[in-house]
Amino acid sequence: MILMQQVCVLGATGSIGISTLDVIERHSDRYQTFALAAYSNAEKLFSLCQKHRPRYAVLAAEWAATDFQARLNASDLDTELLVGASALVSVAEHEEVDIVMAAIVGAAGLQPNLAAIKKGKKVLLANKESLVMSGALFMNEARKSGATLLPIDSEHNAIYQALPDNYRCGQRVGADIKRLLLTASGGPFRGFSLEQLNLVTPEQACAHPNWSMGPKISVDSASLMNKGLELIEACWLFDVQSSRVDVHIHPQSIVHSMVEYTDGSVIAQLGQPDMRTPIAYGLAWPERIDAGVSSLDLFTHNRLDFEAPDVERFPCLTLAKEAFDAGGSACTVLNAANEVAVEAFLKGNISFVSIPDIIREVLDVSDIVALNHIDDVLVADQAARRAAASALTQLS
Ligand code: NAD
Ligand code: MG
Repeated sequence: MILMQQVCVLGATGSIGISTLDVIERHSDRYQTFALAAYSNAEKLFSLCQKHRPRYAVLAAEWAATDFQARLNASDLDTELLVGASALVSVAEHEEVDIVMAAIVGAAGLQPNLAAIKKGKKVLLANKESLVMSGALFMNEARKSGATLLPIDSEHNAIYQALPDNYRCGQRVGADIKRLLLTASGGPFRGFSLEQLNLVTPEQACAHPNWSMGPKISVDSASLMNKGLELIEACWLFDVQSSRVDVHIHPQSIVHSMVEYTDGSVIAQLGQPDMRTPIAYGLAWPERIDAGVSSLDLFTHNRLDFEAPDVERFPCLTLAKEAFDAGGSACTVLNAANEVAVEAFLKGNISFVSIPDIIREVLDVSDIVALNHIDDVLVADQAARRAAASALTQLS
């Protein structure tokens, strides 16, 4: 008999949230949506509630609550609306919740993700920023509580699948593992010159060739900061030094990542570039379920190319690696500065090539301190955001 699992979807209205609900809907005998949470899109969240009938709906933005409540009052739904950032934490740590899909974008995911981890939930981690900004503290909480942490980022999910069956995130990978090979599509600007990069627009940056994603991660993919954040994510999840993680540009996004063993074997996970595969893997682990993803036809994808990343044109990858190696709050600062710079680029306030300039400047002026407590993370995050805002002002 399959036990019904209660799922809390944080970031339900986003790209990962919608894909998660698609998989859940295919398996209504196994999963029930306990809570759906989003920032402010009352209309979209309400329509998801009509379909999935969760116990709770959460809107982090208090100003969006009236609209949602009016829709709720006019409906026959039993869903209860909770409001504010603290409500994200309440649903993530709720005793009836078995699985938390951590799919809020950016630093806002940190507190609810940590709450779920501390309660020992099965946490499906899409929100890489929370791990990047809090690193060892995040992983220590997972080890302490015995939470099941499963990577949803396709690369880390691929690596997890290529590691031995008894491996669990947070353990140091064995000495029999030589390298983790992280693949990257290279994004929409892979072949662009520096002159061309200077002129690219937010619309171009958001038009990813292989994946359909939210705006922030799309810009990160275009700048290779996404791969930088993923390198840091891999170091924490699999407890390896950055020198054991190699980035390979693989434009077709079919090989999602690889593990190289000391005997020369390289084990890869392949599949369509569709996030429902890692999401279904995470939901059902250690079993497998249908994700609604079509078979991979290798005759149509008859070429798999690999090349080294160009860190001259895409310096964000190096900035991320250096931040990880520096330790302490450096990754917190990197992440915060990147979030501010990406938002400014999306609003049309800075050019694409200014993103790494802002991050570098913020790293240069920030004190890098030890992170002993989650409050240290929040303080470093806020200070870096202020430094980034002032770097933006100087730029304009
Ligand atoms: P998205 O922009 O499509 O959705 C973001 C979600 O977060 C929305 O539901 C939004 O309402 C919610 N949100 C934003 N700010 C919030 C706040 N302050 N409080 C509460 N909720 C808030 O983003 P996405 O593409 O779904 O990505 C989500 C996360 O998953 C990101 O961390 C991203 O890096 C990661 N991820 C995404 C993909 C992908 O294919 N989309 C792949 C790997 C990892
Ligand atoms: Mg990824």
